[in-house]
Amino acid sequence: MFRPRSTRQTRIEHVKEIFDVLIVGGGPAGSSCAAFCALAGLRTLVLERENFPREKVCGDCLNPSCWPVLERLSVARRVRDLPHSKLPSAEFVAICGHKVVVELPSGENCELSVKRSLFDDLLLNRARDLGAQVREGTTVKALANDENWTIKTAAGETFSARTLIGADGRNSTVARLRNLLPRPARERVALQAHIPLPPNFGRRVVLQFLPEGYSGQAPVNETELNLCLVGTPHTISKLRQWAERHFEITPDQSWRTITPLTRSAVPCAHKNLFLIGDAARVVEPFTGEGIYYALRSGELAARATARIIRDKDRHSALREFARACDQMYRGRLWINRLARAAVLRPHIGSLFVHAARINASILKLLTAKIVLPASTR
Ligand SMILES: Cc1cc2nc3c(=O)[nH]c(=O)nc-3n(C[C@H](O)[C@H](O)[C@H](O)COP(=O)(O)OP(=O)(O)OC[C@H]3O[C@@H](n4cnc5c(N)ncnc54)[C@H](O)[C@@H]3O)c2cc1C
Repeated sequence: MFRPRSTRQTRIEHVKEIFDVLIVGGGPAGSSCAAFCALAGLRTLVLERENFPREKVCGDCLNPSCWPVLERLSVARRVRDLPHSKLPSAEFVAICGHKVVVELPSGENCELSVKRSLFDDLLLNRARDLGAQVREGTTVKALANDENWTIKTAAGETFSARTLIGADGRNSTVARLRNLLPRPARERVALQAHIPLPPNFGRRVVLQFLPEGYSGQAPVNETELNLCLVGTPHTISKLRQWAERHFEITPDQSWRTITPLTRSAVPCAHKNLFLIGDAARVVEPFTGEGIYYALRSGELAARATARIIRDKDRHSALREFARACDQMYRGRLWINRLARAAVLRPHIGSLFVHAARINASILKLLTAKIVLPASTR
């Protein structure tokens, strides 16, 4: 007769199991990595602090570069089936209100906005379907590395794994516990909310310079607008007041917040530890590329992990991963830095919009470098 195992027994077996790879964080980086690891036949465990679906501070825009990775995960169609908004153009607005509109790639691999609650949940479920074990509501608190990794959670559980992936975002616990986290430059803070979609907003992403910082706006479905505000701790309340007036938001609107917006990159490849997504490098949100870097670095880390677990040359796997990550950012980071320079001094950013009204070709060229059609990735 089948007798259920006691909780105690299950727990002891749990401690004994050694996973090939343990991934901390189930955002786009962690889910992508987990799905590719599971596809490669690795025993994969994801520990995620939150219970999904959950929102997070983000502009909700998917750069077209994401599509090839989503295709390889066989979820592109499912992402397109989620409530979303296609974004055929980006509108840059100077402080004085002057505007420049730049077209974005069209077709099914276009720029698209989708709520992170839906997108992240879909990706985490994909990893689960492919065989990854996923524990939500589980916060990693401590790590020890001997031959294998021992990972402790806030609830006192212990897990063992041969390789560890830090996919736990810009304030990565994994990087902090390994003394890798640089001191955050808490120079800026972001606020984000989903508000009712104003009538006639249309299908476009708006990037608006304001004296105190900037705002990003994108419809995410038929009824909601994603509204982001980025400023300094001193100016953020003024930005919020601007948003309340401009969009007729009631003061009881709930906002999510995050900081830092900038910090130095962390070395991403170590003996049996990889850092991916925001945990490795935080980019300026203005250009809306972070999700792509998260997805792609997750894929690259899974490839390197599979090689290490199969006892292929560890050093060459680490080198190849670091090189591929460099390549991923190469040719794009300078635009991101340029965008940061512009948003840190919104008056200069505004001058750029004025210049683009006279000759739009530079802005079009820069936008095209960031929002590349998926076929070129
Ligand atoms: C204002 C703003 C707007 C943005 N807009 C865009 C945009 O439009 N498009 C775009 O592509 N990018 C955008 N980004 C960037 C994007 O949000 C990130 O780059 C992306 O979320 C990175 O994914 P990730 O998986 O690395 O990290 P995250 O999405 O942060 O996921 C990390 C996960 O780890 C979990 N976690 C953290 N600590 C622990 C722990 N100790 N134990 C267990 N789990 C843990 C968290 O709960 C979280 O689910 C924006 C960022 C900001 C700040």
